[in-house]
Amino acid sequence: MTRSLNGKVAIVTGAGSGIGRGVALRLAEDHAAISVWDLNGEGAAETVRQIEAAGGKAIAITVDCSDKAAIKAAADETRAKLGPIAILVNNAGISPYKPFFDLDDDLFDKTIAVNLRGPYLITKEVLPEMVAAGWGRVINITSSSVQSGAVDLVHYVSSKGGLMGMTKALALEFAASGVTFNIVPPGVIDTPMLRGAPIDAEAFAKTLPMKRMGTPADIAAAVAYLASEEAGYITGQTISTNGGRYMGSH
Ligand code: NAP
Repeated sequence: MTRSLNGKVAIVTGAGSGIGRGVALRLAEDHAAISVWDLNGEGAAETVRQIEAAGGKAIAITVDCSDKAAIKAAADETRAKLGPIAILVNNAGISPYKPFFDLDDDLFDKTIAVNLRGPYLITKEVLPEMVAAGWGRVINITSSSVQSGAVDLVHYVSSKGGLMGMTKALALEFAASGVTFNIVPPGVIDTPMLRGAPIDAEAFAKTLPMKRMGTPADIAAAVAYLASEEAGYITGQTISTNGGRYMGSH
C-alpha cells in the first residue's frame, strides 16, 4: 500500500489553525502540494513554514471562505502556483455559542455563510476540474454535534447538518465521476476553537469513552485515508473520529 498522493494539489480551508493545520501537515507528509486557505494570514503562513520545514510543498492564501469573489481568486492563485486542484478539505468554520432566544438572525446567517454556503461555493468552483480529470476527493469536516445535538449551538448544528446532507447529495450526483465526497465529524478535539468555547473541555473529555480529547492528527488520519487512492470506492460515508463519543454513522 502506498500513502503517496504524488504531488496532487489539495486545498485545506481554515488551515491556519487547529484541525486544518493538522490536516495540511498530514496531506503534505503524504506528498500532496497544499494550498493553505485561512482568514488568518499569519496562521496560514505559519502552517506553510511548518510544512516546508518538514520538506513539503505549500502556499498560503488569505481568504474569506464565505466570499465568492475571494474564493475564485484563491482558486485561480492555487492553480497558477501549484496546478489543477484534486483534493478539497472544507474545514474552515465558526462556532459562536449563543442560547436560542439570544440568537439574532445575523449570527444565524453568518454561521450558515461560513460553515455551509462557503463549502458549497468552493465545491462549485473546483469540482469541474476534478470531474474533467476523472479523479477528485472532497472531504467535509462537520461535527459530532450533528449526531448528538448541542446546547446553545442551534445555528452551528444546523449549518453542519446541512453540510452533511450536501455531502451525501453530491456523492450520489457525482458517484460515477471519479470524485468522492465524504464526511469527518470531529468529536472533542484540542484546538484554539475548543479552548475558546464556554465549556470545560478537560472535564467534558473525561466523560468520553476514551477519556481524552482528540488531536488534530487524529482527524488528519481519517482525512488522509479518505483522500488516498485506496479510498476510491468510498463515497457519501462518515468516519466518526470522536473517541467513541457517538457510534451511529449519521
Ligand atoms: P480553529 O482552531 O478555530 O480553526 C479554524 C480556522 O478557520 C481559524 O484559523 C479561523 O480563522 C478560520 N476561519 C474561520 N472563518 C473563516 C472564513 N470565513 N474563511 C477562512 N477561514 C476561516 O477551529 P478547529 O477546532 O480547528 O475547527 C476546524 C473545524 O472543525 C471547524 O469547521 C469546526 O467546526 C470543526 N469541529 C471542531 C471541533 C473541535 O472540537 N475542535 C469539533 C467538531 C467540529 P480565525 O481564527 O481568524 O477565525
